[in-house]
Amino acid sequence: MSVANQFRTISGAFLDVFYPNICQICNTDLNMNEQHVCLSCAYDLPYIGQNKKELQKLEKLFWGRVEVQRIYSLLNYQRGNQTQRLLHLLKYKEKKKLGQYFGEVLAEVITEPDKIHAILPVPLHPKKQRLRGFNQSRVIADGIANKTNIPINETCLIRNAHNLSQTKFSKYDRWDNVRQIFSVKQSKQLENKHVLLVDDVLTTGATIEACILALLKVENCTVSVATLAARV
Ligand SMILES: [Zn+2]
Repeated sequence: MSVANQFRTISGAFLDVFYPNICQICNTDLNMNEQHVCLSCAYDLPYIGQNKKELQKLEKLFWGRVEVQRIYSLLNYQRGNQTQRLLHLLKYKEKKKLGQYFGEVLAEVITEPDKIHAILPVPLHPKKQRLRGFNQSRVIADGIANKTNIPINETCLIRNAHNLSQTKFSKYDRWDNVRQIFSVKQSKQLENKHVLLVDDVLTTGATIEACILALLKVENCTVSVATLAARV
């Protein structure tokens, strides 16, 4: 089934009457079979989905940096495109149901979900999370969990609260500082596990890399990555 067809299936599966019935992209009224975005807009979105060439490009991003098992991403992100608009709605307009919905669609392109033991949303800086009130990666993770029944783990991967001021360091120190943004606690829970790291968007890969560096310190922990969008 094509990714676009997934929208039809998922849209038809349930109808949330409390959600405003207009397309979040073009603002036209939605019909009974549509949810969050109209079919026409859904068809027009720039999918990465299962495009091998584009996925390979994303894999190459991590070559020589950290070992990643698989990378999954749904939408191509470019400045000013519809993907950027969707991410903006999720992050700054609190369209959590929209994010969860796209998480469910993202789940459809994850091959072999039965080999994944836990979903780990990339944590926000605690201060940022307090300000925003939610973590957009967690919202996407919820959608994936709904579809796959893989449990979400938010306790093991943590973002260290105190980033050292970056300005007074040399370029190398700065990079070293970035690498230590994340750490793992209760690491026993992740030993011998294959985890799926989830974020909203993949651009330079620096955040994802920093997370993976922390996770790979755990004995026999392997990591795949799923992002709603990626710049390819
Ligand atoms: Zn539309």
